[in-house]
Amino acid sequence: MNKTDLIIIGAGPGGYRAAEYAAKQGLKVVIFEGSEVGGACLNVGCIPTKTYVHSATFAEARERMATVVGQLRQGVEGILSHPNITLVREKGVFTDAHTVGDYTADNIIIATGSETKWLPIKGKEDPRVVDSTGLLSLETQPKRLAIIGAGVIGMEFASVFNRFGTEVTVIEYLKECLPALDSDIAKRLRKYLEKGGITFKMKTAVEDIADIDADVVLMATGRKPRVQADFANAGIEYDERKGIAVDDHFKTTVNGIYAIGDVNGKQMLAHAAEMQAIHVVNQIIGKPDNIRFDIMPAAIFTQPEAACVGPTEDQLKVDGIAYECKKSFWRANGKAMAMGETEGMLKLFVSPEDGLILGCHAYGAHSADIVQEVSVLMCKHTTIAELADMVHIHPTLSEILKSAVE
Ligand SMILES: Cc1cc2nc3c(=O)[nH]c(=O)nc-3n(C[C@H](O)[C@H](O)[C@H](O)COP(=O)(O)OP(=O)(O)OC[C@H]3O[C@@H](n4cnc5c(N)ncnc54)[C@H](O)[C@@H]3O)c2cc1C
Repeated sequence: MNKTDLIIIGAGPGGYRAAEYAAKQGLKVVIFEGSEVGGACLNVGCIPTKTYVHSATFAEARERMATVVGQLRQGVEGILSHPNITLVREKGVFTDAHTVGDYTADNIIIATGSETKWLPIKGKEDPRVVDSTGLLSLETQPKRLAIIGAGVIGMEFASVFNRFGTEVTVIEYLKECLPALDSDIAKRLRKYLEKGGITFKMKTAVEDIADIDADVVLMATGRKPRVQADFANAGIEYDERKGIAVDDHFKTTVNGIYAIGDVNGKQMLAHAAEMQAIHVVNQIIGKPDNIRFDIMPAAIFTQPEAACVGPTEDQLKVDGIAYECKKSFWRANGKAMAMGETEGMLKLFVSPEDGLILGCHAYGAHSADIVQEVSVLMCKHTTIAELADMVHIHPTLSEILKSAVE
């Protein structure tokens, strides 16, 4: 048996980032990957979908996706060629709590990610039904695409295929799309996309795929953590639906074993996986950090995009938290007008007591960049009076945030 300092299972954003950081800190790392390095994010998630968003046609998107993913994958291969890292290109399986394959270590990080959650809808075996990975591998553009689910994946694909000229219908069980987004913002975004040609059937449950009139049906009903039976051999507690049980520091129920990224089901985002990786390695090497996992910005790359950090207005009401809502609009911003991108609204929630920012939800061109600024301000406990004193370049979309507090 080969002893090492750290074993990592899975080379997605959680796993490869943990390997890179740990190796730079001097730890000897063994990382297992059963498929291509880069995980869902690089191969079938964030990167391919954003390449689609930034391509004019379906044909261009397919061509660019292969190039972009190939280049980035080479980059990850480069990261994993660090002398302190051994990449084992096979599935990592626990034989006991400290042994995976031929390696043993006191510290193990599980970063096995997630997979499509298929709903048990009648007819789901219909060859027209695909998940996001299947949709990305289509070689011909569908004329009519039906999307089951108006969550992040469903809405991003709806926006992109509509722009390519496909006839898109989104079918959603709930009243509104994008439940993590402020409902006011989500509704405005949906209405705008509807005006652009997407058909939305809200409050509609699909009972039989045979009832759907489309060439391709995308199952976009969420993702579930990828757990495996041998985790139980190691004594790790997990739930098929919720993933591996972890505490606030991503420790599992077994000492020395951590679970990061989608597999713990906490915050299924690539940047969350990466920051969880850093936090876990810091614990292993005894280095304190101040990473704020409660301030987790997220974006939805529709056109225009949407983004959020902190609670929605509805959530603030439910929790009985006092707040003031400050709004501003893309149509009142000089840069947005110059860009011809006047659709959008920002809502900033502020504590009336001390002026601290509670959260921000927005849709509009580059709203992710604006919400990123808000996240930094929240991490630094900045009040809106302090924000109003900060100079913002003119003309930029960042002035939309500043004008909300003036
Ligand atoms: C269509 C789509 C679009 C997305 N867009 C975004 C976005 O814009 N922004 C964003 O932040 N997030 C986005 N996500 C989510 C993002 O991809 C995930 O949050 C992120 O990839 C999670 O990283 P991870 O390291 O936990 O897992 P993954 O990226 O899933 O990586 C896990 C890796 O582990 C490997 N593996 C699993 N089991 C084993 C085993 N036993 N042994 C060895 N290897 C194993 C897998 O092959 C995989 O490579 C998107 C997801 C999808 C599906």
